[in-house]
Amino acid sequence: MTTVYTYVPSPEHRFQNHPERPGRLDQLRLGQFNGLVDLPAEAANVEEVCRVHPPALLEQLQNWCAEGPGIIDHAPTYVTNESFNAALRGVGGTLACTRAVLRGEAQNGFAIVRPPGHHAEPNRSMGFCLLANTAIAAKTTLAEGLERVAVIDFDVHHGNGTQACLLDDPRAGFFSSHQEGIYPGSGWLHETADSGGRLVNAPLPEGTGVQGFARLAEGVIAPFVAKFRPQMLIISAGYDAHWRDPLASLALTAGGYYQLSQRLVNLAEEFCDGKILFVLEGGYDPANVANGIHAGLAALMGLPQPEVADTCPYAEPDIEHRIAEIKQVNGL
Ligand SMILES: [Zn+2]
Repeated sequence: MTTVYTYVPSPEHRFQNHPERPGRLDQLRLGQFNGLVDLPAEAANVEEVCRVHPPALLEQLQNWCAEGPGIIDHAPTYVTNESFNAALRGVGGTLACTRAVLRGEAQNGFAIVRPPGHHAEPNRSMGFCLLANTAIAAKTTLAEGLERVAVIDFDVHHGNGTQACLLDDPRAGFFSSHQEGIYPGSGWLHETADSGGRLVNAPLPEGTGVQGFARLAEGVIAPFVAKFRPQMLIISAGYDAHWRDPLASLALTAGGYYQLSQRLVNLAEEFCDGKILFVLEGGYDPANVANGIHAGLAALMGLPQPEVADTCPYAEPDIEHRIAEIKQVNGL
């Protein structure tokens, strides 16, 4: 079966020395993946975006962009004249892959898009994110026939936007792992405890790396998926949990991303008829964004781990106690 991807690098969406920049994708080498199918990405339409966002947000974003380059929040999130169209194409690229997987035209896929989306709440663009790419994809799968879908977010930051977009929809599951206490300051252990395991937050201590994520996948992500029984997995794939990322302090490696991706692909095979889509979120060191995306694509395509020298020099904390807490709080 086919693996598809869309590539929406949005070179026109850039701002001075901002870390969320087109150069994040400069080291991608997709030519190494024989058989990977490139899908065209068209701008999403208003009806699709409004499955999550009210028309008022689109109007506000359009107005901000019309005013020219500027900062719209303290993250800081920026817009330019071109950012509204870039955001619509990012959603459109995500939906092209979503539909190919949903309809069985492809086994799985990877939407390599900018700007990212997981901090964008229904009424508010924030955290370098303009529109909620992943949440819109999840809502689209439900609108087009699925009964349950789950988003799994391994970006180093809490997926507050996706969580807010899916909060009131019992058909949508959500898991987010993130470094405890950093931007945006949400995603606490008990934050969604009343959801009965449908919305799971896994705040992790600084330095959590390959072993910790392996334990998290077995101890929390696998039981979360087994309990919620989604029919498709949508992965918010941020690569800023890498040990060399300049914005945060978790400690994954290229090999760790491969293992995690492979585990998610296996869970999709076990519970979702193989339906899984990765969507790019953050990641601010271009070499590691490329290595992370290559690792994800290799896992999706059933290929061995791409060879890359990448060892974290730091010792990991023991997170067994935290994993036990997450399981207990969420009934997993
Ligand atoms: Zn992030």
